[in-house]
Amino acid sequence: MYLPGYRSPFLFYISKMKLDHTLKERFLRYVQIDTEADPFSTTSPSSEKQKDLSKLLVAELEAIGVTDIYSDSHGYVYAKIKGNTSHEIPAICFCAHIDTAPDVTGKDVKPIVHENYQGTDIVLPDDPSQVVSPKKYAELSNKIGHDIITASGKTLLGSDDKSGVAVIMDVAYQLINSCSDKERGPVTLLFTTDEEIGRGVEHVDLKRINAAYGFTLDGGDIGEYSDENFSADGLKIIIDGLSAHPGYAKGKMEHSMKIAAKILAALPEDTLCPEATDAKQGFVHPSDIEGGLEQTTIEFIIRDFETAKLDDHVALIENTVQEVLKQYPRSSYTLERQTQYRNMNDVVSQHSYIKDIVIDAMNIAQIEPNIVPIRGGTDGAGMSMLGLPCPNLFTGEHGVHSRTEWTSVQDMEKAVETVLNIIFLHAEKHLA
Ligand SMILES: [Zn+2]
Repeated sequence: MYLPGYRSPFLFYISKMKLDHTLKERFLRYVQIDTEADPFSTTSPSSEKQKDLSKLLVAELEAIGVTDIYSDSHGYVYAKIKGNTSHEIPAICFCAHIDTAPDVTGKDVKPIVHENYQGTDIVLPDDPSQVVSPKKYAELSNKIGHDIITASGKTLLGSDDKSGVAVIMDVAYQLINSCSDKERGPVTLLFTTDEEIGRGVEHVDLKRINAAYGFTLDGGDIGEYSDENFSADGLKIIIDGLSAHPGYAKGKMEHSMKIAAKILAALPEDTLCPEATDAKQGFVHPSDIEGGLEQTTIEFIIRDFETAKLDDHVALIENTVQEVLKQYPRSSYTLERQTQYRNMNDVVSQHSYIKDIVIDAMNIAQIEPNIVPIRGGTDGAGMSMLGLPCPNLFTGEHGVHSRTEWTSVQDMEKAVETVLNIIFLHAEKHLA
């Protein structure tokens, strides 16, 4: 039984120990490799160039001394670092994605390190209209003395998720070079492609991961931990109206576009929509509409942290449709519903020790845990559904998918400490 709050003297030592980090140099190398995902591609990876980083990671893992490495045709890289004890300790997996978002170009990224940041606006040299400012990013005010990394103004930085990649690679380095004498179990590292276009776990092989639980390293400010995300369904309402010649339509025509407009107008505006909700409130959101006189299709996305409430939200839409159709007796509708993803907490909450370990790991690293729900999906949600509980840990990403994306070297180093503490706390749980 793991006892939260237990403090190992060794871990205290780790938190005080000056690790010889390789993280900053790795991060600067990785962001300069263009790994932009292509949402219009049907191949895997969606852009072949993502494999440029996969190949570099394989070479760097070999250089660190990791021997069990596997890279597949999709650009995924799996690496296993053996345990160093005869005790039976289940593996933990740490995962990051190597692709960047297609929203902003990831070609020719020129990272700039702003050493010993002093709280001022950072004007990006290649486009001075791009400013990384504490007015826009309040967290920046807490980074005085940090080394802040930005892009140069014309591209994104790619901290999402090359921060996660660099953190995991530094962890591999530390396990083999700095902490090899401390007993621990096996660790699986996983780098995936195409997370940004929702295809990050499409080809993941859980047997190859072979871990008890995992973490994605793809998070925001220092201390953030997320073990909850939306449950999500897609919903299509197809309205079949009644067509007639416009010149002779009196008493005959039932216009499907007008029916659709009435349905949308009848949906709540002050609750249950993205514009009026935050934190743990769910919503229904019409995401697309297409049609003509005879047939109109409305597509919705349905979101809630409570999976069971998705049924209520679908019922609300269906009741609205039926109510509107009362005025159109010869028209009809069909409803198509698809499961998209589920709240990982449905799975993760069955393993409460994971959160206990994370909170202790952060406390030891002198970080205040900040547990935040994700109003979206993650690779971890997908992996949790496949059977690997997989919450998300901070990596210091800010302003993601934009030209003012930035990160802090010191916060990324704290993520390394947190991960190492998790590995050793997990081992102690099984050695006790
Ligand atoms: Zn990401």
